[in-house]
Amino acid sequence: MDHFHRTGADGSDDLHVEGVALTAIAEAVGTPTYVYSRATLERHYRVMDDALAGLPHTICYSVKANSNLAVLGVLAKLGSGFDIVSVGELERVLRAGGEPAKVVFSGVGKRDDELRRALQVGIRAFNVESAFELERLEAVAAALGQRAPISLRVNPDVDPGTHPYIATGLRSSKFGVPMPEALPLFLRAAQSPHLRVVGVDCHIGSQIVEIAPLVDALDRILTLVDRLAEHGVALDHVDMGGGLGIPYRDEAPAPPDALGRAYAERLSPRGLELIVEPGRLIVGNAGVLLMRVLGTKGGALPGAGDDPTAQAATRFVIVDAAMNDNIRPALYGAWQAIEPVAGEVACRGDPAPVDVVGPICESGDFLARARPLPPLRRDDLLAMRSAGAYGFSMASTYNSRPRAAEVLVDGDLFAVVRQREDLASLWREERDLATFETALRSRGPT
Ligand SMILES: *Cc1c(COP(=O)(O)O)cnc(C)c1O
Repeated sequence: MDHFHRTGADGSDDLHVEGVALTAIAEAVGTPTYVYSRATLERHYRVMDDALAGLPHTICYSVKANSNLAVLGVLAKLGSGFDIVSVGELERVLRAGGEPAKVVFSGVGKRDDELRRALQVGIRAFNVESAFELERLEAVAAALGQRAPISLRVNPDVDPGTHPYIATGLRSSKFGVPMPEALPLFLRAAQSPHLRVVGVDCHIGSQIVEIAPLVDALDRILTLVDRLAEHGVALDHVDMGGGLGIPYRDEAPAPPDALGRAYAERLSPRGLELIVEPGRLIVGNAGVLLMRVLGTKGGALPGAGDDPTAQAATRFVIVDAAMNDNIRPALYGAWQAIEPVAGEVACRGDPAPVDVVGPICESGDFLARARPLPPLRRDDLLAMRSAGAYGFSMASTYNSRPRAAEVLVDGDLFAVVRQREDLASLWREERDLATFETALRSRGPT
């Protein structure tokens, strides 16, 4: 059962999230607004958890996909762990009620203060991505009189078959340690009184729709695990990262249970625990971006040449959401479904291709290109689907646009879980010229 549907309790065919009509949310909160479904979040977590039921495992939800406190709270309540990439994400997890003992810390550049804080709260493992990080961590742990639990992020050099910006496990990538360097680094770490080797990890990319590259990566990692065992270094866990893809359009991602079986077959005989770090899989299809049409205008279609008759009556649909709200189309050429919220819009006429664009002064500011949509008018509500992951978490205030509101739906109820930013928040951290000059004067000549 899907929690985004057009079967309202009142018989309406407007788009609903669980028991709530998106029109009601737009009326109460305005647009643009991100809307998340709690039931969908919970269902996706359970699908992953069930898929791994055959082996000891911990799901460490990747916070960067969607770091809203309420979203983190829903997952913490289900017993989820968390994969973080900064001290900011760590503090969010703690604030949301997540257990530090289920946190793994990834990222190619961790500062000393970040390492220190994570050691103090007692995280499960540092996913160490370089020799220099290992040295820094050892020094920070020594200063605190602690032993840091480490897992080396290795780079298995497999091609996940995804967009180049989200492929992270190739030899040419900035992430992780190349396979040949991993063994000596592990052996060095195993000898340190301030480090405790607990695992090995990788994350080969995102929006992976086949299990073969992931299983291939695991096989390469297990070769390393076996060599470590020969040297007397035993691990507790293997962390296979995130990356499982979701259907945005007509992709048919491999089901998590097929992957779970392949993992269990390989890990169970070795008595290793599995950690996974799904982000998109949990939140991607649990959210929509709700927006309103500001107006439409004509223009020449691409390839129209000089023919003046090849001007579409409607070429552009201009909406109140933009690339600052959802940068995925501009950044990766990502395709996300867009549909009118009101069911009646579909009856207005045949769909024709339009570009759905925002108000930002960049040609790259589009949400969809040549997208067949029925005739649209000012004030129509549109929902951009699959917007729960890497939507709000990548939002900015470019063009001095306050960031959108976020709403969480739970059954027939909903509430704001992040207020729409107000205009003053755009410059709250800034100092105007008069304040700057006063500061200079009070400091005197230096
Ligand atoms: C981004 C990231 C993830 C999550 O990736 P998804 O594709 O959203 O599942 C997991 N682990 C690491 C290290 C990441 O950088």
